[in-house]
Amino acid sequence: MTFDEIRFTCERATDGDWRDRPLESIGGYLLMRGIPQNMAQSLLDTIGDVRLDHMRAPYVRKAYELAKRALPEAVNGRLEAALDMALYGKVTVEGTIATVRDQAKTFTVDGFNCNCGDAEAPFLGQHRLCSHKLAYWLFRRALELMSDPAEL
Ligand SMILES: [Zn+2]
Repeated sequence: MTFDEIRFTCERATDGDWRDRPLESIGGYLLMRGIPQNMAQSLLDTIGDVRLDHMRAPYVRKAYELAKRALPEAVNGRLEAALDMALYGKVTVEGTIATVRDQAKTFTVDGFNCNCGDAEAPFLGQHRLCSHKLAYWLFRRALELMSDPAEL
C-alpha cells in the first residue's frame, strides 16, 4: 500500500481529521468503518511514523542547510535527493547500519560505505558522496540537533 493510499484510507475513515487525533481514537474509527484489525494496526503504525517524520522535519532541514554550506558544489542534486529521503521516512537506522530506500531500490549504508556504486559521485576525502550516505548523515545530524534544540 502506498502512502497516498494509506492517507486516503485514513482521511476517508476519519472524515479528514486524523492528523491531530490520538492514535487510539483513529484506531476506533478504522475498526468502526470495517477496516480489518491488522490493516488498522499497520495504518496506525504508518501514522505514527508520519508524525515522527513531521516532528523531525525542521531538524532535517537545518542539517541540510549546514551540509549545503560545508559540501563541495560537485555534489549537485545529491544533497537535495538526500534531503527528500531523510524527510520522508526513507532512512531506517539500526546501530551503525542504515537502510535507505531510493525509488524502488534499497541500499545499505555502513559508515562511509554504500552499495549503490554511484561512480559519478564526488569525493570527500577518500569517500564518495552518494545521496544515500548523505541521507543517512542528514538523518543522524537531525537526531543530534533534536537532542539539542538550541542549535535550531
Ligand atoms: Zn549510495
